[in-house]
Formats: sequence, structure tokens, C-alpha cells
Amino acid sequence: MDWEDFRKRGRDAADWAADYHLYLRDRPVRAQTKPGEIIAQLPKSAPDTAESIDAILNDLEQTIMPGMTHWQHPRFFAYFPANAAPVSVLAESYVNAIAAQCMLWQTSPAATELETRTCDWMRQAVGLPDGFSGVIQDSASTATLCAVLSMRERALNWAGNRDGLTGQPRLRVYASAEVHTSIDRAIWIAGIGEANLVRIPSSGPNRAMQVDALREAIAADRAKEGYMPAGIIACVGGTSAGATDDISAVMDVAEAEKLYVHVDAAWAGAAMICPEYQAMWRGVERADSIVLNPHKWLGAQFDCTTHFLKDPETLVKTLAIQPEYLKTHGADGIINYSEWSVPLGRRFRALKLWFLLRAHGLDGLREMIRNHVKWAEALADRLAATPDFEIVTPPMLSLFTFRYVPNGAIDLDTLNQDLVNAINTDGRIYLTQTRIDGALVIRFQAGAFSCTEDDVRMAYDVITEIANQM
Ligand SMILES: *Cc1c(COP(=O)(O)O)cnc(C)c1O
Repeated sequence: MDWEDFRKRGRDAADWAADYHLYLRDRPVRAQTKPGEIIAQLPKSAPDTAESIDAILNDLEQTIMPGMTHWQHPRFFAYFPANAAPVSVLAESYVNAIAAQCMLWQTSPAATELETRTCDWMRQAVGLPDGFSGVIQDSASTATLCAVLSMRERALNWAGNRDGLTGQPRLRVYASAEVHTSIDRAIWIAGIGEANLVRIPSSGPNRAMQVDALREAIAADRAKEGYMPAGIIACVGGTSAGATDDISAVMDVAEAEKLYVHVDAAWAGAAMICPEYQAMWRGVERADSIVLNPHKWLGAQFDCTTHFLKDPETLVKTLAIQPEYLKTHGADGIINYSEWSVPLGRRFRALKLWFLLRAHGLDGLREMIRNHVKWAEALADRLAATPDFEIVTPPMLSLFTFRYVPNGAIDLDTLNQDLVNAINTDGRIYLTQTRIDGALVIRFQAGAFSCTEDDVRMAYDVITEIANQM
């Protein structure tokens, strides 16, 4: 393909994209494919001779599209959203065309400076004070890994990178039992070890970490020979049921103990652009590191994670390596964002955030988030008032969990899993399950960029209709 072919095919692709999204409601949300069905249709080796673009596009329609789960479907109520607002898809088309590596200031000055500016727009939008610096990471998992590596090196006075962890004290990191698995992964990768991720019990309506238990766990470790507390990971809007720690109370402990604190607000952080929700993370301005994903609810197409740091020097000191070939001579006061992240190469992620924030304005995005919260609350109220249904965890923003509990049912876990499976096979909506205090329950979150109030109403109809057929 040459660029003249691309001109025509690119226009076709834009038409295809618009049609795909306009008619998405007619497709089942979750792929209805069986394992192995797609791979069986794919040749075992790459072709030796070139094939036509028409043949490739035909296979895209016939083979690939039937095996896709539609994350941009307005009735995607599973997991958390991975929204791609139309304007962010457009921005990504430009990024794809430019295809720059944005690792150093010099390799893409505009990308670096736009990243600095858009991160600062986000910082202000979510109510973080001046003084936090932002960087765009590929995912919240990476941001959390960066935070855990910073905790480790700060606690060891940067001896870990140099000497390895052998012979060092046992580093201890504290988090509630509700944190995302990306925290476990970061602890594994950082060489700290799962056994040193201390799980503090959570309780109360917010399923918050018990701060007294946190204080006691740290004191117990300080009393042990060879143990060294290194940091705390707090969560705002946990993945299972929206668990939210009392950041202010956690910070009281952290400051007394001089521990590094990372706040995982990967999903719920987007809602903090609405001032009325900022009370949820009161005290966050005292944390060292905060992550939120514009690539979830906000609508900046995956991948786009904003990571805010009170003192970026701690992270840069942990990650920066400057061989001669990466030095930028004669340019002082510049930022090389590859020193703030694990991979060297970096995509131009700031452009879609810039397009998104400008094309919708913060007010446009606030309205979407407020609507999702309102509609999810209304659905929770309707289900609570419906015989044989109970709300298990009340709405945290737009996320709640519920359970089907008909009279006389014996194995409620199996019944609820069967209900989720039947709903997803029906295809009009998509839901997932989780476990709350041991019980299998059904999760609902409203968050798709194109979701309307009618879509949420349809969720009620589908859930109750299918439950009645069980
Ligand atoms: C989604 C999520 C993550 C992981 O986000 P990635 O960007 O996919 O790595 C981490 N923590 C929470 C609370 C999440 O909701």
C-alpha cells in the first residue's frame, strides 16, 4: 500500500468507523464466539505473496468482527468502561499518521510540552493543588509499578537498583484487601514479594481500610528485626465494588511514619472533575503519587493514564539512566518523560486528551459522569424495590452490586452466575460478576460514552425478564 492508496482507504475507514458506532446498538455486546472458533479460520502461516486490501478487509468483516466484544457499545455495563470518544479516535488517527517516539524532549518537543500542559489541566480539573507534576503512563498498572519502585528505592536509599535486594531488609507495603491485582503484580515485579504486601482488613459502607489496623500492622513490623515499612497504597473506587479508603486518615498514619503513599483512583479519579465528588478522596493532596485513567470513564481512548507526583525527583532518581546517546546537550530545564516511566519508547498520548478536553469542555464531561451516576442510582433503586432482588453494595458513583434471591433457591452463587451467563448470551447488555464477602454477586456500572437513560432502563428490563425465565 502506498500513501495514495491510503488516502482512499483512509476515507473508507472513517466511513466504516462512523457506521460501526452508529449501528452498534444492533450488535450483541459480548462476542458470542466459542474458544478456538476464530483461530481455526486463520491460515497457519503468513502469505508469501501479497494479498489485496479488499481480501484483507473482507476477512476483517467475516472472520474478525464476529469475534469482537464491543467495548464502545452503549449497553456495556461490565468491568469498567474503556471509552473512546469520537474526538479521541480522531486524535489517535493523527497520532497514528505522525507516529512519533516521544521518549525525550528532543525527540518530540511539542509532544513533551503538550503532555506537561494537558496533565496540568487534568491536575486542576480534579482539584489537586499546584505543585503536583503529571506524566502520561500507558496504564494504571505501570503507574503503580513506578510508585512501588519509588517506595522501594526511597526506603533503601537507592541501594536496590545498585546492589539488588539480597541482604536488604524485608520491605513492607500496606494496602486494603480491596485493591486491584495490579498492586500485587507491582509488588511481585519490584522484588518485594507477595508475602510482604500486608493486607489491612476493610469495613464500613465504603469498605475502607481500617486505619487502626494499619497503624498496628506498621508498629508490629517496626518491632521486628529486619522488617522495613516502605509505603502504603490506598484506593479510591476499587474495582470489585468501589471500595474507598479514608485518604485523610491514611495520610495521618503515613506522615507520622514517613511512608510513601500511592493512591489508586484508576476508575473513580475521572469523576473528580465534578467538585461535588471530590470529598470522596479528601486528603489526597497529601499523597505522594496518584493515578487516574482518562482511558476509562473520561473518554480518552486507551491508552492514557495520568500519574501525578508530588516530587517527581524520587521517581526520576529511581528510573533515569542516561547513556551518552540519550543525552540532550545544551538544553537545560527540559523534561525527558522516558525517565518517568518504565519503557523507553512512548506514544504521543497527550494529543487525544487535548482534543477531548477541548472538544467537550470539562462541563460536557461532567454532565456525562453526573448522568451515569444518576441513572445507576435509579436502577439500583428500581432493583431494590423489585421482589427477589437485593442490592449488595450500594452505588459508589455509578457502580453497584446486586443479587437475585428468589424464595426457596438453594445455591444462590450458581444461580447468580447462571443469570450473568444467560444475560450475556442474550447479548442486549453485558454484565460481570464479583465476590462480596464470599458471595457471588452481579456488578453493574454505567459509564459508556454513548450510554443513554433508555439504555440503563433496558438493563432493568433485560435483567428482570431473564431472571423470570430461570
Ligand atoms: C482498571 C483499574 C486498574 C488497572 O488499570 P490499567 O490501566 O488497565 O492498568 C487499577 N486499579 C483500579 C482501581 C482499576 O479500576
